[in-house]
Amino acid sequence: MKQTIDQLPLTKTIEDVLQQLGIKDLNPTYSTGLVWGGKENRNTKAIHSPADGNKIASVNMATPEDYEQVISTAQEAFKSWRKTPAPKRGEVVRQIGDKLREYKEPLGKLVSYEMGKILQEGLGEVQEMIDICDFAVGLSRQLHGYTMHSERPQHRMYEQYHPLGIVGVISAFNFPVAVWSWNTMLAAVCGDVVVWKPSEKTPLTALACQHIIREVLVNNELPEGIFNLIIGDAEIGSLMSHDGRVPLVSATGSTRMGKKVGEAVGARLGKSLLELGGNNAIILTENADLEMALRAIVFGAVGTCGQRCTSTRRLIIHENIYEQVKERLLKVYPNLPIGHPLSSTTLVGPLIDKEAVKAFQQALERVQAEGGTLLTGGEVLEGEGFESGNYVKPAIVEAKNEYETVQEETFAPILYLIKYSGDVENAIELQNGVRQGLSSAIFSSNLLETEAFLSHWGSDCGIANVNIGTSGAEIGGAFGGEKDTGGGRESGSDAWRVYMRRQTNTINYSRELPLAQGIRFDIMD
Ligand code: NAD
Repeated sequence: MKQTIDQLPLTKTIEDVLQQLGIKDLNPTYSTGLVWGGKENRNTKAIHSPADGNKIASVNMATPEDYEQVISTAQEAFKSWRKTPAPKRGEVVRQIGDKLREYKEPLGKLVSYEMGKILQEGLGEVQEMIDICDFAVGLSRQLHGYTMHSERPQHRMYEQYHPLGIVGVISAFNFPVAVWSWNTMLAAVCGDVVVWKPSEKTPLTALACQHIIREVLVNNELPEGIFNLIIGDAEIGSLMSHDGRVPLVSATGSTRMGKKVGEAVGARLGKSLLELGGNNAIILTENADLEMALRAIVFGAVGTCGQRCTSTRRLIIHENIYEQVKERLLKVYPNLPIGHPLSSTTLVGPLIDKEAVKAFQQALERVQAEGGTLLTGGEVLEGEGFESGNYVKPAIVEAKNEYETVQEETFAPILYLIKYSGDVENAIELQNGVRQGLSSAIFSSNLLETEAFLSHWGSDCGIANVNIGTSGAEIGGAFGGEKDTGGGRESGSDAWRVYMRRQTNTINYSRELPLAQGIRFDIMD
């Protein structure tokens, strides 16, 4: 299938995009927390676009010595940043939001080209960054605690929140910039400084963000160590997890990674915020509006080529509508426009790399060996427009929930159709019957079914939607999931509290010293 890269009004080539974003030097020398290390004796990593396989750049990987330097720069910057009033910190974040508006198009394109998601989603990711900046600006004027009445006369009691220090952010390839901004903009208004270790698969978008932020810091005569970037592999992430100078590590990625980070941070009694894998399901009851549901299912299952933590992986369908739903999906799937992510006609881009393609194929083999039936898709696409070898046809498989392959998250576009009978509680049991607990959804116009799904015996996930699919969360709500998803919450609502330490203060404005609980402790003199 021939794909043309059209609708690129600003730029025609990725070099232009990089230049627009200020990335002239891909291996920059360390300078006050801006990026990592010098040029000598470093491992470099070639970055290939999953879209066409072309080498975009090669970047230096940080060493443990670089890490030390970044941490000490961040520690230094924290001393002044924590003393800056929160609304003034918010003003800096407001300016970052403005800069992101300015750079939305080239940054969205770079996200699309480096990660492989379609341009619409690349732009959407940058919009999400802008949204969280706006949210954080408002938040900077409402970092509040409670006041409580004291049991002692003429005493006052209240609690307040203070900055933590360095927040380590480890991010995944699939949301190369949005997840970082969720953490960073909140942490920044809370008075923390951030050290970001992006996925080694998507360092260019991280570099671009750092350049954008740098403009704001320079304009405000602020030290660069407030927002730090260190590009490295798992080893750098591991250093951060074990480092007592990093009181909070926010890690997004696979459950396998989260268990290692959680264990290391827990062993030193630090705080971790874990955003890990999902195995998300949509329940379709007999009372579902199928027109609406089908759009949500397809977007959820094949959007971002199945590489969202909230991608729809399981479809739990009532037996009375099962055949109808299957038939409808089998009409849509063969015609999905698969191709270059920057083409305006594409809805499904490539997988991130060859390993992901292999994992997709292996999962399909395994589930069939367990008894599943492959109904459509599963091929790796070849030929013109697919030279990178990362393009696959999204698959639909009839399966049982208890199959080990269905129980796992395969980060690829595989949708498992699972039949249920009887009432909605049976569907909910299947939906909850996996180790992960990120996102879930029900399509039904029956109040009894939707309320059961939302009740405390309903969905066990961090996100439970009614007549909306599993993917595409807004920044205003707290985002995250339970069980193997890690239990963390970030983004909206009161997620900011995790970036601060809580302190309870009691003030005595009497001339007595009464003790709590009426305890008497008189010193005889
Ligand atoms: P990954 O686990 O391979 O890597 C994620 C990050 O962790 C990378 O920066 C990597 O270098 C780092 N890392 C790996 N091992 C580490 C270790 N031992 N110590 C410290 N850091 C380490 O994940 P990925 O392939 O980049 O992303 C896909 C996964 O991320 C999927 O499971 C997806 O569901 C999950 N994800 C979850 C959310 C969420 O909010 N719940 C959001 C996006 C992605």
